[in-house]
Amino acid sequence: MKITNVKTTILFAPFPEAIADAARTIGGRDVLLVDIETDEGITGTGISTGLGVASGSEIHIIDAIILQALKPMLLGQDPLLIDHLWSLLYKGTLRFGRRGAAIRAISSVDIALWDLLGKKAGLPVYRLLGGNSRKVRVYASGGFYHGDDDVEKLVAEMTGYVRDGFTAVKMKVGRDPIQDAARVRAVREAIGSDVELLLDANEAWDAHTALRFIDRVAPYDIYWLEEPVAPDDLDGYVKLSQRSPIPIAAGENEYTKYGFKELIARNAVSVVQPDVTRVGGITEWMKVAHLAEAFGMPCVTHAVSEVHVSVVAAASNAPMMEYFTHAHYLQAFMTELFIAPAGIRRAEGGYVYASEAPGLGLELDPQLLARYTVKVST
Ligand code: MG
Repeated sequence: MKITNVKTTILFAPFPEAIADAARTIGGRDVLLVDIETDEGITGTGISTGLGVASGSEIHIIDAIILQALKPMLLGQDPLLIDHLWSLLYKGTLRFGRRGAAIRAISSVDIALWDLLGKKAGLPVYRLLGGNSRKVRVYASGGFYHGDDDVEKLVAEMTGYVRDGFTAVKMKVGRDPIQDAARVRAVREAIGSDVELLLDANEAWDAHTALRFIDRVAPYDIYWLEEPVAPDDLDGYVKLSQRSPIPIAAGENEYTKYGFKELIARNAVSVVQPDVTRVGGITEWMKVAHLAEAFGMPCVTHAVSEVHVSVVAAASNAPMMEYFTHAHYLQAFMTELFIAPAGIRRAEGGYVYASEAPGLGLELDPQLLARYTVKVST
């Protein structure tokens, strides 16, 4: 089997109104699709998603790396040699890679290769990886900042998730620690004591500010505090993990097994959160999950549930998956665009299901694909 072509498609869908976390304002959703074609007529599809800031999106940089750097290395190769190809692409991009856009480009290619392998083998990816259950627990993610009636909207959103059957919810923090603590208290009082409450600071604080905040919210039974400090502040993470009664989570901005080795081995976090579209694809996600498992650490995902459902279903130390409901701007376009895997389009009782179709089971609505495509390569 040989790779005969690597094609990309970029889509952009603006949100009705921008949304904000502690770090940035997001104006829309952009999606990069990578199609790897073969001489046997089987095509594997991988994806990457961007921050949706229209022309300034990083997705165009990732696209250029795929087409100009990775494609020449991939043409003519056997697509089933996934681990070999990962090393080839990693070494081939070393001088401009190792983190960031180059690893995100490799990630999307690696996802496409796993999809291709599954289609060739006639098996869903979660079963190729040794998974034994399609059923995946999810937590409802959201709780972004709103305007003047922020707390009211936040409480309505979080209690709505609980009414819909979710048993764990996540909200944003990372701005003023005193006001954020008041928001957390309002949510805890509204959702009751039996729902797990997760907080995400989106790398906004320093360790000192994070500790002040942790002191204030410790009484509210917090499941984890995510990305309290910048991803490169490893010493800050170590300090927080030593002193915080609340478990610290991070990893959505970490790259490859080498980056996670430091987070895990230094006990900088209690939970790792690799993202298949950033960490280096499914190959690297599973390596990080196994590394975390050896240290007794849970491995939870970041966004992109369309792909993550297949790896979470296969990892024994992945207790749940981040999930944005269709009602959320961040997810609405993705849910409309990906008509399959069908088992993740709606969560039931806080659970979704991995696809039984060969590969990742990704299927796109052709009309939406045509309407929102802004760039296609051949
Ligand atoms: Mg996060």
